[in-house]
Formats: sequence, structure tokens, C-alpha cells
Amino acid sequence: MSNKLHIVSLGCNKNLVDTEVMLGRLKEYEMTDDSSEADVIIVNTCGFIDAAKEESINTVLNLHDGRKDDSMLVMAGCMSERYSEELSKELTEVDIFTGVGDYANIDKLLAERESRFSEQVYLIDGEERVVTGSTYHAYIKISEGCNQTCSFCAIPSFKGKLNSRDLDSIAKEVESLVAKGYYDFSFISQDSSSFLRDQNVKDGLIHLIKRIELIDGVKSARILYLYPSTTSMKLLQEIAKSKLFHNYFDMPIQHINDDMLRMMKRGFGKEKTLEQLNYMRSLPNSFVRTTFIVGHPGETQEMFDELCDFVKAFGFDRANVFGYSDEEGTPAYTAEEKLSQELIDERAEILGEICKGSEMASLQAEIGKEIELVIDGESDEHEFLLSARKTIWAPEIDGEIYVNDKSIDEEFEFGVIYKAKVTDIVGTILTATVTGRA
Ligand code: SF4
Repeated sequence: MSNKLHIVSLGCNKNLVDTEVMLGRLKEYEMTDDSSEADVIIVNTCGFIDAAKEESINTVLNLHDGRKDDSMLVMAGCMSERYSEELSKELTEVDIFTGVGDYANIDKLLAERESRFSEQVYLIDGEERVVTGSTYHAYIKISEGCNQTCSFCAIPSFKGKLNSRDLDSIAKEVESLVAKGYYDFSFISQDSSSFLRDQNVKDGLIHLIKRIELIDGVKSARILYLYPSTTSMKLLQEIAKSKLFHNYFDMPIQHINDDMLRMMKRGFGKEKTLEQLNYMRSLPNSFVRTTFIVGHPGETQEMFDELCDFVKAFGFDRANVFGYSDEEGTPAYTAEEKLSQELIDERAEILGEICKGSEMASLQAEIGKEIELVIDGESDEHEFLLSARKTIWAPEIDGEIYVNDKSIDEEFEFGVIYKAKVTDIVGTILTATVTGRA
């Protein structure tokens, strides 16, 4: 039997790590981009908000339409976990359903053509995975689940309580990836700054930073998904002190108005949030990224205006805006004072434009600067352009740089760090001239 596998990973980079674990279990399969010739099709779904759920369903149905007769269609991940009963009944196109507990068992589920929803949420711990998308960068998942109770969020209902990996397990994984040539790492989870709190360790990330700094071969690192009320000044100072961890701060704050932050059950108010953000901003070469939710039940025009004024003034490097999604099982779902979808969309558009302006200002401030970047490969846009990323930026989400010139003789090597001068901006993409090896 030829074994061709087509896999789609939807949603976040945490989901991607789980997809890579499945690939590690299915190494005997030949990968194919053409789902119509695949013997096995796997969709690792996202079930966070309406838009993600819609994309998950559409992806499964589209792949079903084009699949070959005797192939197997697997629906895995958060959407499948969250709606296992309904989907198992209604989505008859799917052969195997599994949730967020059986990624490391995927080979057995396929062999036994069995759907399975194990109780325990899966967390990688030594299983070999196939890192996708890069030859030098890898995401490292440090915990699963979340103990926070944000009013709008359903994730704890299907990902469970915070479950942190041991430092040894994480260090071993990083060491094994360094041995394969990886040197740039993004540490991720639902709530990274709560790392090890389930093991009664405060500031677990400080222990993580110190441990990773001991590993030869790690050249660059960043932490994503800090949570305001579990992010201490001590942690921010440790990041600032680190030679390895960039002054990269990804902290979704969701809003800035005190009453709204209280309604969102975010645990931290405006004053403390500003203290953290201003400290981040004050650091050399700092990069501050965040996320906002607009249109949450109870959001008044004044609260929204306050948020817009704050974002205009602060100058985030990158910021995502989500319109509130009414998720059953969350505290906000039973709230009064819900806003119309039209008003939610309108506010998301207004704040989205403001955030684009901040991003543009952040990019323009780079012009003329000497930076460090990594060339990922040829650009999809133009054969004479190479696609690169500033080493502090996280892959895929913070942007691209076109390398269109060099003042060195040597041929370019992909996946290595170069020094470069930022020369210009084309739309939202910087251009740069490489000036030497870092
Ligand atoms: S921190 Fe809040 S938004 Fe993030 S996963 Fe936990 S409950 Fe959801």
C-alpha cells in the first residue's frame, strides 16, 4: 500500500507543535501537497472562536470533496475536542475523530481506524517531532492548558488546567534540536508567564531562561504569550539582562480600560499594565507585540475611545485586533449588554487601522538602521529578492524583509545570521543590504 499523507495544521503555533508530533509518528508516510492523491488526510483543527471554527469545518469538507475513495480523513485538535459529540454525529464525512489527547497515538488510531478522545490533554515530553517551516527555528511548547478565567475564552474548557513541562524535558528537546542545526527558538504556551506555577514555582520563566542560556548552540530566543498579572518585573529584567533572549515582549492585554479589564477577568488594571509596557518600551531594541479584543459585552463608546487613544499614543510594534466572539461556556456568554455584530465589526476595523499605523511607524523607524537578519530563502514576490526576517522577530507573524543587495562577495547562505542595513520600505516590507556575517 502506498502511504501518502496530507496534513493541514490550523490555528496557532501550539497546534503546529502537536501537528509536528503527529508527523514524527507517521514518518513512514510520504508527504504530499496534493490531497486528492493522499491515503491519509489529517486536519488539526482550531476551535477558539467562530471564524476559526468555520475555517476548520470548511477545510475538512473541502478536503473530503477532493479525496480519493479509499482514503482516511482524520479530524483532530481543538474544534474536534470541543464539539466531539455534535461532530461525531453530524460530520459523517470524517472517518476518525480525535481531540487534544492523542497526538502521539495517531499511528495507532490510523492502524485501528479508531476514533479516540483520551482524558489527559497531550503535552510533548520527549517525543520526536518533525519541525516544519524552517531549518534553524523551532517552536518549543513549555506547557499546556490555562488556569486563567478570562471572560471571553473557551480554551481552558477543552485544553484543561495549566500543565507545565519539566525544565529537563524542555532542555533535552532544545539540545536535540541544536544537534540537528536549530539555533533560534520561540517558547510558547497558552499562558507562558505562569510556567511552573502548577508546580508551585513562581517566575518559572526565569529558571527557563537560565537553563536555556547554558545550552551551547542556542543563538537566539524569545518568549510568546506573556499574561499581564503573572508577568513580574523580575522576569522582565531577566529578559532584559539575557544575551540570548531578545527584548521581545508578546503580551496580549486585550484592553486598557479598568472596568473592561475587570469585566474580562484579566486580573490586572491599567496602571500596572502601563508600568510593564513602559518598562518594555524603555529597553534597548525592544519589540512589543500585543492583542486586543473589541466589542466585549459592556464595552461603552468611552471605553473604546480610551483604548484607541492609548494605542495611538503607545506605539506597539505589532498588534492584532479581534472582534468579540460569543463563545458558549464562557462567562461573557451569559452577560447582558451584548453589542451588535455590526458595531463589533466597526470597532475592530477602527482599531485595526490604528494598529496598522503603529506597525507602519515601527517599520519606518527601522530605515537606516544596522540590524541582524536571517535569510529564509527566495522571495515568493520576485526572483531577485530574498526573503529574510529580523532575528528578534518571531517567524510568520512579525513580517518579512526583502534582501535586494549586498556589500560582501560571498554567496548567500540560507538560515544563517547576517548583518544588514535597512534601506527602504515597499508597502509594509522593509528592504535591506547585507553588509557582513553576524
Ligand atoms: S490566558 Fe485567558 S485568553 Fe489565554 S488561554 Fe488562558 S483564559 Fe484563554
